[in-house]
Amino acid sequence: MTDSPGWLNEGMRHIWLPYSQMKHADPPLPVVATEGTRIHLADGRVLIDGIASWWTACHGYNHPHLRAALEAQAARMPHVMFGGLSHEPALTLASRLAKLLPGDLERVFFAESGSVAVEVAMKMAIQYWLNKGERGRSKILSFTGGYHGDTIATMAVCDPEEGMHSLFTGLLPEHFVQPLPRDAESLAALESFLDRHAGQIAAILVEPLVQGAGGMVFHDASTLRSLRDLTDRYGLLLIFDEIFTGFGRTGHMFACQAAGVVPDIITLSKALTGGTLPLSATIARARVFDAFWSDDPMAALMHGPTYMGNALACAVANASLDLFDSHPRMEQVAAINTWLKAGLEPCRGLPGVLDVRTLGAIGVVQMDRIGDLRSLKRLLVAEGVWIRPFRDILYLTPAFTATEEDVMRLTGAITRVLERGHP
Ligand SMILES: *Cc1c(COP(=O)(O)O)cnc(C)c1O
Repeated sequence: MTDSPGWLNEGMRHIWLPYSQMKHADPPLPVVATEGTRIHLADGRVLIDGIASWWTACHGYNHPHLRAALEAQAARMPHVMFGGLSHEPALTLASRLAKLLPGDLERVFFAESGSVAVEVAMKMAIQYWLNKGERGRSKILSFTGGYHGDTIATMAVCDPEEGMHSLFTGLLPEHFVQPLPRDAESLAALESFLDRHAGQIAAILVEPLVQGAGGMVFHDASTLRSLRDLTDRYGLLLIFDEIFTGFGRTGHMFACQAAGVVPDIITLSKALTGGTLPLSATIARARVFDAFWSDDPMAALMHGPTYMGNALACAVANASLDLFDSHPRMEQVAAINTWLKAGLEPCRGLPGVLDVRTLGAIGVVQMDRIGDLRSLKRLLVAEGVWIRPFRDILYLTPAFTATEEDVMRLTGAITRVLERGHP
C-alpha cells in the first residue's frame, strides 16, 4: 500500500469493511471521483462500472439533474424531523410513487435503508392481523435463495445459509423459509405446507422475478401469479421486495407489473434516489392501511426512523423519477439486454461455466464454482472494469445510460478472464 493515499493507509487501521475477512481482504480501491459509468481511482486509473454501485446508480453517476435537485434542496432545507412536520419533497414523492405503482398500492412509509423497509413491511403484516383481532399469525413465509437484508429480523427471512441462521440460533425469530414454487410439484409442496401452517402465517414475502443478492436467480411471472392465488386462497398478505427489481432493472418499471400481480405491500430502495442518498419506502394497499385506521391508539403503526423522509433524499428521488419520465429508460434497458446477451454468449461453453442468463439490464454468468474470488476480482480490475463476482457468479447490472461500447467492454473483460481459465 506504499503508493496509496495517506488517508487510506491511516483509515484502514480504523475502518471495518462490509462482508470482508479483514485479515485477508485486498484493501479497497481508493476512489476520488465518479462520472457517468466511470469510477476514477486515486492513481489515475479509470474503471468502467459494471454494477452501478450495487445497482443503485441507474442514471449513471453525477447526473446533472439529480445534482441540481440536491443542491437546490440543500440550500433550502436538508432535513427536518418527520414527526409532526412535513415537507413538499416527501409528500410529492409519496403521491408520485402511489401513482406509478399498480392497483391501490397508495400508502407510503419512508425509511433510510432497504433492510428497514423490509422490517417495516413485516411489522405491518404482523400487526395487520393483530389489529383485525387475529392472534397467532406472527410468522413470515419466505423462500430459499432469497435475500432481504442484514438486520436481525431480515436475516431471519433470508436463505438460511445467507442469513447464517445456524450461527445465530436462538437470536433470530423463527420464520418459514420454503422452496420457491417453480413447477407443479413445488407448488403442490407449498400448498400442503400452507394447509398445515397458514394459521400461523401473516404474509408471504418474495423478491419478484429475480432473487438478487442471493445469487441472481430468475423465476417466471407465473410463480408470482401462483403466489397471489395462494395468498388469496389462504387469506394471507403478499409482500414483494422490489428493492433490487424496482425502477426498471428487469425491463419493467416494477417487476409486479410484468406479472400483472398487485402485492399487498411492496418495498423499494436501491435505485430510488438514483444512487445518491439512502432512502427506502414501504408501500401498502388500502386494505392494509385500513386495518390501522382506528380509534384505538394501540392500532397505530409504531415506527419512525430519525431520518425518515429526509428532504435531500426525497428531492433527489423526485428528480430521479423526472428522468424516468423524460428519458426512454425502458428502451435503454431493452437495448442493454440485447448487448448483454450478445456479449456474454461467448462465455457459454467456456470451462466452468454452467449457464449464461439475462433479464432486462441484468447479465449473469453462472460458474460451477469460483475457487479464488480474490484473484478473479484482481484480474477484472486489471481489465479496467469494476465487477464484483460473489459466491459462484459473475454478474453485470450497469447503469441504464451505459453505451453499447461500455457493455461490450464489460462483457469482453468477463469473457477474456474466463477464456484464460478462471482461478
Ligand atoms: C439490497 C437489498 C435489501 C437490503 O437493502 P439495504 O439497503 O442494504 O438494507 C433488501 N432486499 C433486497 C431484494 C435487496 O436487494
